[in-house]
Amino acid sequence: MRDLSGAEHPATKAVWAGEEGYLVEGATQVPIVQSIPFGYDDLDEWTAVALGEREGHIYSRNTNPTTRAFEEKVRALEGAEDSTSFASGMAAISNTLLAFLRPGDRVVSVKDTYGGTNKIFLEFLPGAGVEVRLLDATDHGAIEDEVAEGCDLLYLETPTNPTLKLVDIERLSGAGHEAGAIVVVDGTFATPINQSPLALGADLVLHSASKYLGGHADALGGVVCGPRELVRRVYHYREINGAALDPFAAYLLLRGLKTLELRVGRHNENALKVARFLEAHPAVERVFYPGLESHPQHELAGRQMRGFGGMLSFSLVGGYDTVREFLPRLQFAHRAANLGAVETTVGPPSTTSHVESSAREREEMGIPESLVRYSAGIEDVDDLISDLDGALPITHARTSGDYG
Ligand code: PLP
Repeated sequence: MRDLSGAEHPATKAVWAGEEGYLVEGATQVPIVQSIPFGYDDLDEWTAVALGEREGHIYSRNTNPTTRAFEEKVRALEGAEDSTSFASGMAAISNTLLAFLRPGDRVVSVKDTYGGTNKIFLEFLPGAGVEVRLLDATDHGAIEDEVAEGCDLLYLETPTNPTLKLVDIERLSGAGHEAGAIVVVDGTFATPINQSPLALGADLVLHSASKYLGGHADALGGVVCGPRELVRRVYHYREINGAALDPFAAYLLLRGLKTLELRVGRHNENALKVARFLEAHPAVERVFYPGLESHPQHELAGRQMRGFGGMLSFSLVGGYDTVREFLPRLQFAHRAANLGAVETTVGPPSTTSHVESSAREREEMGIPESLVRYSAGIEDVDDLISDLDGALPITHARTSGDYG
């Protein structure tokens, strides 16, 4: 077998890592092992694999060679000891929470997590007897105070969706550990290319692989990485709960991952240029992007992230009516509830990240109804900018907000 331990750089890991045990018959690509069970003629061997005493696969709800190769590649990119995969990002989040939390436990998190995560916090966990405290993502002192009151699990997401706030992973992981909490970070927006939560002190990092990891908006998946002991507990919950990643989806995600470093580099560049263009445009009220010097946490972004990511959002002068007119005028953008794909994708939070929340809940989370979430793709940025320029109100946006 190859020795890939010399692969130090993310671009090399993205291409090679995790595949070495899974290439069969000289194939250069990991096959889709579309089999539910794995058979054994030798009963002793079967028993040893079933008991976890020997490497191998028993049943694809538990493990499968294609999904395992995907898990291994992400594990290498995150620099983690172990990883496990899921049918979707939400399955990764819900299984991780449910693997650790029991009635009477206390979770601390931020108000503006992804809408589905927020629903778990507001609806499902309280129904299961878990106390949830949600705080302003940028008020780190308040989060620390709340954690000190008692915390079994500290759940962070950074950058947040859709207003691109940052949480200081290192500082809050320290606070979480002092309270004896498990610290979990949703790193979907940043990807392992731009940010390494485990190196900053978090216990577990999870991703919606449906976004940047796959990168082509054609396969749902989720993944959790961290120390073996914690990942095993999540895996055990998932294998029984049944939210397993399908081998075909794992194959698509594996293929997407090979270009992760290339794609994220381009996403980073495009988003920064688009953000600078929008910041200077009179029809734009405010731009939310951690790479801009005007972002209130730009200094933290520089410390915590290697690149600022492909996601940005901006509010338009004239409110939701302007958004309604602006969005259909864009040519090089899908108007869809997705992000992290090679194609630019746009939408208002009311139909994308926070469709599950009411207008009032969105307001409480500080999400203006005039906001547009923009996932910069990997197209030529000059085309993206002229597309935006053509779609934005041209003349007198500062005074009336109407289209000229
Ligand atoms: N986490 C973040 C930050 C997201 O943006 C999303 C989806 O948009 C999810 C998790 C959920 O992922 P999935 O759609 O794969 O369930």
